[in-house]
Amino acid sequence: MNNTTEYRFEVFVSNPGFDDFVPAAAYLIASLFFIIGLKRLSSPRTARSGNFIAGVGMALALLGTFLLPKMGHFCAILIAIAIGTIPGWLLARRVKMTAMPQMVSLFNGMGGACAMFISMGEWIKGADEGPALPKLLGIVLGSVSFTGSLVAFGKLQGLISEKPMRWPFQKAINAVLLLAILASAGASVADSQRAMLWIVVLAVLALLLGVLQVLPIGGADMPVVISVLNSCTGLAAAVTGFAMHNMAMIIAGTLVGAAGSLLTLLMCKAMNRSLAKVVFGSFGIAPKGAAAAAQGDQTMREISASECAIMMGYARKVIVIPGYGLAVAQGQHLVHELEQMLEKRGVEVKYAIHPVAGRMPGHMNVLLAEADVPYPKLLDMEEINPEFDQADVALIIGANDVVNPAARTDAGSPIYGMPILNADKAKNVIVIKRGRGAGFAGIENALFYQPKTRMLFGDAKAALQELITEVRGL
Ligand code: NAP
Repeated sequence: MNNTTEYRFEVFVSNPGFDDFVPAAAYLIASLFFIIGLKRLSSPRTARSGNFIAGVGMALALLGTFLLPKMGHFCAILIAIAIGTIPGWLLARRVKMTAMPQMVSLFNGMGGACAMFISMGEWIKGADEGPALPKLLGIVLGSVSFTGSLVAFGKLQGLISEKPMRWPFQKAINAVLLLAILASAGASVADSQRAMLWIVVLAVLALLLGVLQVLPIGGADMPVVISVLNSCTGLAAAVTGFAMHNMAMIIAGTLVGAAGSLLTLLMCKAMNRSLAKVVFGSFGIAPKGAAAAAQGDQTMREISASECAIMMGYARKVIVIPGYGLAVAQGQHLVHELEQMLEKRGVEVKYAIHPVAGRMPGHMNVLLAEADVPYPKLLDMEEINPEFDQADVALIIGANDVVNPAARTDAGSPIYGMPILNADKAKNVIVIKRGRGAGFAGIENALFYQPKTRMLFGDAKAALQELITEVRGL
C-alpha cells in the first residue's frame, strides 16, 4: 500500500496531531455541508441555500486537501483550479435555463474525466501498491461517464443527431467490448511487465463503450441517460477516493452516486420506463404513434385572445399546464400576472406540474418560482389529475408530450406508458403554441385536434400579453 496515503488516512485515528486534525476536520465538516446541501436541494424553497451550503462544503474540502501533510505542487494545483473555475463560472452564468441539461452533461463528463485521470495517476504511482480494484473501477466508470456525457451533450446541443442511432449487431458489439474491458483489466494485474499498456487499452475500450452506449439512445430517454451518467460519475469519484484513501472523495462520490441513482429511478417511474429499456432499448425511434394520430381529424380549431379571455374570465376553475415552450418564451412572469388577474375575478387557478415537463427535473417548479408563483399553487401530477374533470379550462402553455393521450392509448408511440396530465378531461382545452411543431418526442398530439380543444397560436410570451390585455378589458 502507498505509505504516504496510508499515513494520511490512519495517522489521525492513531495519533492525532494538529497537522492531521485540520484536514480531517475540514473533510468531516465538508461532508456534513454536502449532506445538508443535498437535503435542501430537494425543495425549490430551500434549493438556493442548499446549493450555497454544498458550495461552501466543496471550498472546505479543497482547503482540507491543501492542508494535507506532505502536500505539494501548490502552484500547479492553483493553476488547475483557475482553469476549471473560470470557464465553469462563465458558462454557469451565461447558460439559458433551457440549455441546463447539456451543461449538466458537460460538467458531469468533466467529473468522469477527472476520476479516469486520477485513477490512472494512482496506478502509475504504484501499480502494485494497494488493491487494484478501486483504481480499475475508477478508470472504467470515469471513462464511460466521460465520453457518454460528451455524446449526450452533443445530442442535446444539436451538434450530433438527437435521434437514436442504430447499426448492425449493436448489442453484440457492446457485449464484446465489455468482455474486452474485463480481459484487459485482468491482464493489467496479471501481466505486471506490460501493466501500463493494458491500462491504456482498458481506458480506450471504456471510452469507446461510453460513446457506443449513448449514441443509440435519444428522444424522451435523454434525461434518464444524463441521470444514469451522473450516478456513474459519482461512483467513479467514490472508488477513486478509495484508491487514494481520500475521505471527502469517498463521501461526496457516494452522495452523488446515490442521488443520481435515486433520481434515475424516479424519472424512470415518472416516464413508466424500465431502466434496462432506457439503457439497452434504443428508444425514441420510429414514432409509429405519430402516424396513427395523424390519420384522424386533422383540423385544429383556432381561437382569438379575446374569446380565450372570455372563456377564462368567466370560468370557475382554470388549470394551467406549463411546458417547455413557456420556458423558451420566458413567459413565467406573465402567466403569474394572468393568474392573479383571474383570481381577482373569482376564478380558481392552479398549476399542473408534470415531472418531466421542460428539459430538466423540476424545470417548471424553478421557472414558476422565479416568477414568485406561490408553491401551494403548484400541484404534482398525482394531486392535480383527479381535478381536471372539474376544470372549466385547461390552459396548456408550450407543453406537448406531457399532455399527449397517445401515451395512454398508442402502444406504438415512443411515449407509450408515460403517465400524462389529464388535460383532455377538462371541459375546454386551450393550447398556446407557435404552430404545428412537435414536442421533444417528435410526435403528433391528437389532443390538439379534439373538438373541445382551441389553439391560440403564437409565442407564449406574446400570447399571454394579449390575454392579459383582453382579461383586463372584461
Ligand atoms: P415538449 O413536448 O417538448 O413541447 C414543447 C412545445 O412547446 C412544442 O410542441 C412547441 O410547439 C412549443 N413551443 C416551443 N417554443 C415555444 C414558444 N416560444 N412559445 C410557445 N410554444 C412554444 O414539452 P413538454 O410537454 O414540456 O414535454 C417535455 C418533453 O421533454 C418530454 O418528452 C420529456 O421527456 C422531455 N425531456 C424532459 C426533460 C426533463 O428532465 N424535464 C429533459 C429532457 C427531455 P411549437 O413549435 O408549435 O411552438
